[in-house]
Amino acid sequence: MNVVKLSKGRDSSLLRRHPWIFSGAVASVSGQPAAGETVAIQDSTGKALGFAAWSPESQIRARMWSFDSDATPGVTPGVIIDEEFIHERLRRAIARRAGLLSPTRSACRLVYAEADDFPGLIVDRYGDYLSCQFLSAGAEFWRDTIIAALAQLSPCLGIYERSDVTVRKHEGLAQRQGLVHGQEPPEQVQIQEQDRLFMVSIQHGHKTGYYLDQYDNRSLVQRLSAGKTVLNCFSYTGGFGIAALKGGAAHVTNVDSSAPTLELAGQNLALNGFDTDQADLVQANVFEYLRELKSKNALYDLIVLDPPKFAETKHQFKKAARAYKDIALQAAQLLNPGGTLVSFSCSGAIDPALFQKITADALLDAGRQGRITHYLHQAEDHPVALPFPEALYLKGLVCVLD
Ligand code: SAH
Repeated sequence: MNVVKLSKGRDSSLLRRHPWIFSGAVASVSGQPAAGETVAIQDSTGKALGFAAWSPESQIRARMWSFDSDATPGVTPGVIIDEEFIHERLRRAIARRAGLLSPTRSACRLVYAEADDFPGLIVDRYGDYLSCQFLSAGAEFWRDTIIAALAQLSPCLGIYERSDVTVRKHEGLAQRQGLVHGQEPPEQVQIQEQDRLFMVSIQHGHKTGYYLDQYDNRSLVQRLSAGKTVLNCFSYTGGFGIAALKGGAAHVTNVDSSAPTLELAGQNLALNGFDTDQADLVQANVFEYLRELKSKNALYDLIVLDPPKFAETKHQFKKAARAYKDIALQAAQLLNPGGTLVSFSCSGAIDPALFQKITADALLDAGRQGRITHYLHQAEDHPVALPFPEALYLKGLVCVLD
């Protein structure tokens, strides 16, 4: 097996079980490991630190499969990264969610990459279908094994691949999308989240099809919405809007810039028994629409802001912070006294403390006061492994204004 030796002092993150090895930490590589191939990792003195998947094109040059430091390549076999190992990792990830799927919940994430000790692999279940993404050279290397194991471990009618994401470029991988096992999912697959029903387009939806990470937060908005007028900004296919109506909202306005997304939102409203008297679908840029509403003196009782990731990288965080502040400021001016702002950020580069500060500044500039009643985050099927805090990306605040 090829051996990757780290530079002196560059093993500290690995000793804390953080799974990434950056290119700058690599001192030497024996042989020419292929993309995704398993390499043995050693510190500068030759002490074994474990095994990793090699990513020759990426700044994250290797991702750890195992921290089995007892194994010395060529001396003791240690952990073998083979089909059985891959199968067992997937089995464990799926077993962690055993209690989540139920007759009233037919969709959840089954594998969440580093958080499930499976760098680069995302697998979501939508009813009878799985939707997956291979995001690293290591996940790609084991693709056929992973697909076969998933079909066995989480029986389904079909597995669809949504590796049509730009991050694959960093790994030297082309984008790819298509059926990889069983039957092609229908254009729309129905899922259930408690008493909420949604049509999900696995082939054309965002990410793997839907925003499963907001599951608990939709339930919370449902609970907070009775009798309220709701403005659901960045609505996608209507998730928070439908939750609000199920919770007894008086009226919901859903705003999104994407026409196909709103079309599906309309179908989802009908699927849940709501008609156009109860819900508007507005195709608009939220930044402009909030200003338009202000000029019309519109007021709401509850506003949800769930924008796309404004900061793709750490370098963009200032620009992103301004955007988060802008929408929170505009929204705060549209809330009735006692109104509720539910504001999210899914940018990993904006940490929870900064997001709270941005929100506080926005409310101050809007001339509104209030208090935070809930600190929100991604649902439990998107856990955060303790050594890998980067997995926490979604945070939200519920602020009740004076
Ligand atoms: N709240 C949704 C997920 C929102 S994803 C849910 O729980 O399912 C972000 C959405 O914002 C996408 O649907 C995207 O089309 C939309 N979007 C992105 N930029 C926008 C903008 N400037 N104005 C309006 N919508 C925008």
